[in-house]
Amino acid sequence: MQTTEMTLEDHLKKHFGFSQFKGRQKEVIESVLSNNDTFAIMPTGGGKSLCYQLPALILDGTAIIISPLIALMKNQVDSIRSFGTNDNIAHFLNSSLNKTEIAKVKQDVVNGETKMLYLAPESLNKEENLDFLKSVKISFVAVDEAHCISEWGHDFRPEYRRIKEMVKGISTTIPVMALTATATPKVQSDIQKNLGMTDANVFKASFNRANLFYEVRPKIDPIKQLIRYIKENEGKSGVIYCLSRKKVEEIASSLQVNGIKALPYHAGFDANTRSKNQDMFLMEDVDVIVATIAFGMGIDKPDVRFVFHYDMPKSLEGYYQETGRAGRDGGEGRCIAFYDYKDIEKLEKFMNGKPVAEQEVGRQLLDEVVSYAETSISRRKFLLNYFGESWDEINGEGANMDDNSINPKEKIEFRDNMLKVMKVITAMKERFKSKHIVNVLIGKNSSEVQTYRHNTIPEFGIGKDVDAKLWMAAIRQAAVQGLFYKDIENYGLVKFTEAGKAFIANPPESYVIYKDHDYTSQIDQNAEELAHPKPGGSTMDEVLFGMLKDLRKKLAKQKNVPPFVIFQDPSLQDMANQYPITNDELHNIQGVGQGKALKYGKPFIELIAKYVEDNDIDRPQDMVVKSVVNKSGRKVYIIQSIDRKAPLDDIASAKGMEYSELLEELEHIVDSGTKVNINYYIDDVIDEDKQEEVFEYFMEAETPDIETALEELGSDDYTEDELRLMRIKFMSEVAN
Ligand code: ADP
Repeated sequence: MQTTEMTLEDHLKKHFGFSQFKGRQKEVIESVLSNNDTFAIMPTGGGKSLCYQLPALILDGTAIIISPLIALMKNQVDSIRSFGTNDNIAHFLNSSLNKTEIAKVKQDVVNGETKMLYLAPESLNKEENLDFLKSVKISFVAVDEAHCISEWGHDFRPEYRRIKEMVKGISTTIPVMALTATATPKVQSDIQKNLGMTDANVFKASFNRANLFYEVRPKIDPIKQLIRYIKENEGKSGVIYCLSRKKVEEIASSLQVNGIKALPYHAGFDANTRSKNQDMFLMEDVDVIVATIAFGMGIDKPDVRFVFHYDMPKSLEGYYQETGRAGRDGGEGRCIAFYDYKDIEKLEKFMNGKPVAEQEVGRQLLDEVVSYAETSISRRKFLLNYFGESWDEINGEGANMDDNSINPKEKIEFRDNMLKVMKVITAMKERFKSKHIVNVLIGKNSSEVQTYRHNTIPEFGIGKDVDAKLWMAAIRQAAVQGLFYKDIENYGLVKFTEAGKAFIANPPESYVIYKDHDYTSQIDQNAEELAHPKPGGSTMDEVLFGMLKDLRKKLAKQKNVPPFVIFQDPSLQDMANQYPITNDELHNIQGVGQGKALKYGKPFIELIAKYVEDNDIDRPQDMVVKSVVNKSGRKVYIIQSIDRKAPLDDIASAKGMEYSELLEELEHIVDSGTKVNINYYIDDVIDEDKQEEVFEYFMEAETPDIETALEELGSDDYTEDELRLMRIKFMSEVAN
């Protein structure tokens, strides 16, 4: 019974302790209380849960809440229980419960204690559950994460499709409520049709997150960009999303070795690690989480200041949800995505094994992602348009909060060309997608063009003089500006809006568009420059290099070791390039490990600091990124095995390496400044006198070269492997 003397506000206060409704909560709740089918579309954090929780508490009977994930259900139930005194008020019924637990849940429902019963669609499918639900009073059914119903959503779950059938099986008169945080107009229409609620009251909150700043950058040296950004924003919390678990771990390690407090998170970790890493982020013991999209559901850290997309996501819905985790407190929230078309091609390849219909949807969603990335118009406008919302880029809330608005691109007059586009669309009776329209414009004989014999219409090729990319950009921009829309029933067909028809009837004097970004050529150009540095482009400071060599010679004499033991040439060259003047910076130099920096570093950084000061050198502001390549899994395994004193041949065979390959890896390890102690092995395979002789040789040698050593010491007495082992020992003990 809904009519009590208490107002809704009283109920809100009583059950949740809040004094006011948020956004459109009240309207939604009133609609449910009046037994109407109700559809609430609210952005993440909008307070959707309360929209079904409060009516469930007020109405007679038990509300069924359908939710896709067991973990989410548990969170929800815990959170409602935290508001009340009676734990039986909410339960979930799913495969994680045993028989006794199930019996208890059912008993509580029968007793009328349970107001909310969470179910996964699979459980709703089970005969015994259906029979049970038929026998009790149900107040209404709420379908949470309702976008899972539509294959045009980013999170399609086939089992969601059967919900309507199941609900009708329980009773044909229970009101249905749908809730989602993401729905394009197409998805919205799918949900309503599928749940049989086309007459529902629809409440759609604005998706505009005015405090978020959107930016897309070409994916050039992304790790460096990340490190720089995070260092410049020290102490702020952020999330970095990547598509693969492997990338997540790689990036987290790269950040860690560069002194950033970061942890990885993905579904491949066990539950303990996941919750530990998540807690450390929430408690601010780490600043950055590198994650797959598994991270974020149900996480409510209000002050996430940046969200990076290391890889472009598979859909704009995903993108919007993930960026939505920034700035939930209304404060700063920077959303930066790295874009490289090659990543999109990879995603397309992954889809190849899937059913054709699914591929088709996947490609369209990806197309939207590409359009978003490459567009030069306000990103906020683009996104909001995607979700069916119009927004004014001049006066709208959040204007000038994206890279494109801040750095507008040059405009191109396009009035006559736009009229050509419209001519083609009209000729083809508004029944084709933009790609086909463009093919007709540029006169391309694609198979579809031939099938429809569009190469015979007079409009074929009327836009030959304009590039296909520009035509695509123009059609997209016109759609965002409201001249076209995409048909919902046949997704993607370009149709005229009223404004579009008016444009044809009465063309404006001028109509301008922006050219899209061309990130691909920027990325290619960068790769080209890296592969072929300009002659004379080496920035090594020859004078400094000479001074460093002199210093090395002097120290070598003092310490009575060969110069290469102190630093090898590549290290000095790198110093003459990067001008390290602190210990930290010295660590970033090639071949300089901790031991070496401590043992020999001080005079070098002193010399460089003085040199920089005396000559007024502008040190490269460019971040030096320490690479984790040296810490690859294989290397870590080798170092750990040596710590355990495992025989080297065993280590090699365990990793499927030739013995000589292992030696090579060990040489890399010691040459980059790490100590390893292989005496236990050497003592077994080389006798003591020989060891001493080789050690002394290296102590006097001019070069650490093995060939030279073999010549000097005589290949009759020593094998190459022996010398290599001894050199590893020598470098470890003396140099590192
Ligand atoms: P959504 O599911 O839409 O992402 P939630 O239901 O998790 O959002 O709500 C987000 C937060 O807002 C929660 O912490 C919730 O307790 C809080 N909240 C919901 N309604 C109100 C309200 N009327 N007043 C204050 N806080 C609210």
